Amino acid sequence: MFTGHFAIGLALKESQPKLPVWPIIIGVNFIDILFNIFILLGWDKATADLSAGPYFFFTLNFIDWDHSLLMAFVWSIVWGILFLKNPKLSWIAAVAVFSHFLADLPLHNHDMALYPHSAEHLGFGLWGSMGIWSWVLEGVFSLILFWYAKRKAVKRGLNYIWPGMILFAMFFIVSPWLSPMKWIAKQSEPLAHIAMAGVLLFSILLSSYLFIRYYANNEHHKVHRKKILNGF
Ligand SMILES: [Zn+2]
Repeated sequence: MFTGHFAIGLALKESQPKLPVWPIIIGVNFIDILFNIFILLGWDKATADLSAGPYFFFTLNFIDWDHSLLMAFVWSIVWGILFLKNPKLSWIAAVAVFSHFLADLPLHNHDMALYPHSAEHLGFGLWGSMGIWSWVLEGVFSLILFWYAKRKAVKRGLNYIWPGMILFAMFFIVSPWLSPMKWIAKQSEPLAHIAMAGVLLFSILLSSYLFIRYYANNEHHKVHRKKILNGF
């Protein structure tokens, strides 16, 4: 899942509008950020597979240190502890990280271990069984969460067009037809897996930055406007 994680992040943020957005938006992607770093370090293993679709085109051979149930739990606690000064934020940040595992679970092709090196694997395999329709399903899922976030955001005076545009652009770029992974998966090794992790990591960080930037600009202006209206 790609777009869906960001949609979860926006919904979580708008459910707790007073909390800062960056621990949430990085939180929902934390496990994928680790995945890309671990691929580059050689701790995780993925091989190009054009039939793995619908937009990723890689088989995930070993992703236990980030995408196993036990490690998802551990990383949620680690991320949550960083924000212990604000108990509510600490809790939401941890939920954000664990939501990644739950959202990936229906899509992944049985590659999510129970714990590192466990023989038991989870993942309901919708990527494999539904193909393009699993991408559509992720779009519907993202749209519902975005709808919720937008309603809450508009109520507190935010113009929510930009987050919608960013989310739509992401969903469009990772479509089965446009996904850069299709081209990357055709390259020879080691370029294929290095480019996959590099491009994915860059996309996650850039998209996260855009959402964080949106909130930095708009929440600040809103507060400023309110101050002016109140005569401060
Ligand atoms: Zn993931």
